[in-house]
Amino acid sequence: MNNSNLQIVPVADMPKYSKHVKDSPKKLYKKFIQLENLCRSLKGSGLSATQVGWPLNMYVICKNNNTCDYFFNCEYYPIGDITIAIKEKILYTESCLSLPNKYYHVYRFNKIKLTGKRLVNMNGTFSIISVNYIVSDNWSQIHQHEIDHAHGILISDIGKVVFI
Ligand SMILES: [Zn+2]
Repeated sequence: MNNSNLQIVPVADMPKYSKHVKDSPKKLYKKFIQLENLCRSLKGSGLSATQVGWPLNMYVICKNNNTCDYFFNCEYYPIGDITIAIKEKILYTESCLSLPNKYYHVYRFNKIKLTGKRLVNMNGTFSIISVNYIVSDNWSQIHQHEIDHAHGILISDIGKVVFI
């Protein structure tokens, strides 16, 4: 995990699974800041550890207002009856830093329960908080995309390529 050499690895080199992260908040922050810096430099909205070759369940979501959220050990679950949740999936056009210059149509659950952990920075003090809430619309889509990465799933596996 060399800081200066951190880069997006080719799809063939991406881990197909990820482990739970058990680091202290300080060590975790060092990893997250590397992911954030790379995500920002590539103008991405999210980046998962598997995309840089780390088999870890962790990802960053960088927002327009220059803030970035750090998530780890997260999973998502559709809300309510599964057959209805599947029927009510929303079609999104997505891109991915691991699949440059391509767009895919992907169906996503509109509403998910998100569980896991977040690392938060409170005036320079890092703490880990539990995540257990409902996310919908675009936020739901982004979390599904990033958590799928933790399980080795790319939008090229579950979507259809779009020619724009
Ligand atoms: Zn991606």
